[in-house]
This record gives sequence, C-alpha cells and structure tokens, in this order.
Amino acid sequence: MKKIGEVTTSYKLDQGKLKNAYVEALKDPAFKNYVEHLSVSENVLIKYTSRLEDAFEEYQHCRHCKNLSYCKNKEKGFLLTPEMQAKTLSFSYIACPYLQKKLKDTQYQENIYAFEIPKMLLEASLKDVYKDDVARKEIIKYIVSFIHQYREDKKQKGLYLHGSFGSGKTYLVAALFNELAHQNVRSALIYYPEFLRSLKESFGQEEYKEKFEKIKKVPLLLLDDIGAENMTPWSRDEVLAPILQYRMEEGLPTFFTSNFTLSELEGHLSSSSTGVEKVKARRIIERIKELTVEMQLVSKNRRS
Ligand code: ADP
Ligand code: MG
Repeated sequence: MKKIGEVTTSYKLDQGKLKNAYVEALKDPAFKNYVEHLSVSENVLIKYTSRLEDAFEEYQHCRHCKNLSYCKNKEKGFLLTPEMQAKTLSFSYIACPYLQKKLKDTQYQENIYAFEIPKMLLEASLKDVYKDDVARKEIIKYIVSFIHQYREDKKQKGLYLHGSFGSGKTYLVAALFNELAHQNVRSALIYYPEFLRSLKESFGQEEYKEKFEKIKKVPLLLLDDIGAENMTPWSRDEVLAPILQYRMEEGLPTFFTSNFTLSELEGHLSSSSTGVEKVKARRIIERIKELTVEMQLVSKNRRS
C-alpha cells in the first residue's frame, strides 16, 4: 500500500501533467476560443482537456460538413458536446442539424408498420407515381380522393388491386399510406405470405395475439400478395376470416394486392374443394368485396 505522502506526490505529478497538456492545447487559438465559450473555471478545464479536445475535433468536423454522408465523427450524425451541469462538466452526444432534419423528415414512418416490405417502398410517394399509363389513372384517382376524404370519412372502401407481377401495385398503396402517415394516420403494410408463416411460428405464445390484434385493428391495412400464401384451413378460417370480419364490422379501410382476380382467389381459397370449403372461400370473397373496390393494374414489369 502507498503511504499518504507518496499518493500526494503522484497526485501532484498527475496534476502537473494535466496542466501541461492544457497549456499545450491552448496554443491553438481556435481551441482556446472554444473553451472560453464554455465559461468554466480553469481547474475544471484542466481536468477535462483530453475530452475537450475530442469534442473540439468533432465540432471542427461539423463546421466543415456538408451533409450526413460526410460525417467524420465517432457516432455518425452526433456531436460530442460539453455542457455544465450541476457545477460539473458533462459530455453528451447530440444529434447534429442534418440528423435532426432527417429524423424530422422520416418521423412520419413511425406511423407505418411494415412487415417484410422492401424499405424503399416506405419512401413511395404520390408525386413520383408513374402517370404515363392509362391503366393506373383510375387507381390514382381513387387514391387521391381517398386521401382527401379520409379526414371526414374514416370508413371508405379500400382497393383490391390485382394484376401482373411488378406492375406497381404495392407501390401505389404504400404511396397512399405514406401520404396519410404525414397526417399521423397509422397503417400496416403486411407481406401476407410471410406474415402467416411468422404467425404460425409464434402459435401458442403471447406474441401471436399481439401480431394478430395489431393488424386486425390498425386504421389502414394492406395485405400484400394475398393468394401467394400457402393456403390452409387454419390460415383461411382462423386468420383471414376473423381479420376481415372485424374490419368489416368496424369499417376499417383494408387494401389487398394480388396476382389473382377475386374469382381466381376464390379458387385458391377453396383448394381442398369439398363442399364446405367452397362455402368458406365464398364467404371470404364476399367480405373482400364488401371491404374493397376491385381494380386491375396491368403494366410492364417495373422491377429492375
Ligand atoms: P407489384 O406489387 O405490382 O409486384 P411493386 O409495387 O413492387 O409491384 O413495384 C415494382 C417495382 O417498381 C418496385 O421496385 C417499385 O419500387 C417500382 N415502382 C413501381 N411503381 C413505381 C412508381 N410509380 N414510381 C417509382 N417506382 C415504382
Ligand atoms: Mg407487390
């Protein structure tokens, strides 16, 4: 164990080193100016010289930065910032103006729950929708009117969009949801085949009910690519039927995209083809008809 005298000497040595480092750092007029603005006593500054130098370096990066992709700081988009708090100097990471703007611009996305939907579709916007082909004119008209009326009428019908692969069906509905997300309307874009698989996996767990209830009750719902799922009596009668029933009763707008027309979907849903199955499939189709306006989108494949 060190004697008290030895501890005091080594403390003094450390203090000396810190002071030297501080004096050295102050030779940079920009750093000097930076610390002067903090209005902190010299003793405190001496204690934190090294940390202050880190913060100053980040501050300098920010001064010359043009956008987030330029960021040279340790935590992208953040700036190590010294601040006096209860008489001590503390350091925290604060979002830079570019990051703050980005967070603000993408905040609307928090209103959208996307399940296995390509990320870029979360940025789909109506102003970018291809307007060149006649096939989508009617759909766009519907979507625009849906958005305008949503504030007054929360119980409008959704769309059943069917048509060729890659024609932009999911994109159009995503653009609609994004637009309303800016007005704080919550929605869910659900890639239906994968959702079923994941629901099945969580069967018997608490998560199951949570997932199920979430999409049953969300104000706007898209079941994407219905018909591409592995049809089972469970998925039809225990998942799809109650979701649609609830949404019909509550008047919650529900959208579908599919490669199938409604009558083809009926065939898919009754694939085991006994008399009872046919009735059950028929009932689902009736609910979808109740919930939506059916429209077709045939267009060239936009996937690259
Ligand atoms: P579908 O759902 O009909 O299979 P998608 O909506 O996934 O087709 O669209 C196919 C591709 O084309 C996607 O990569 C999508 O981002 C792009 N796309 C579709 N419509 C547009 C559009 N109006 N503007 C820009 N990109 C689009
Ligand atoms: Mg799609």
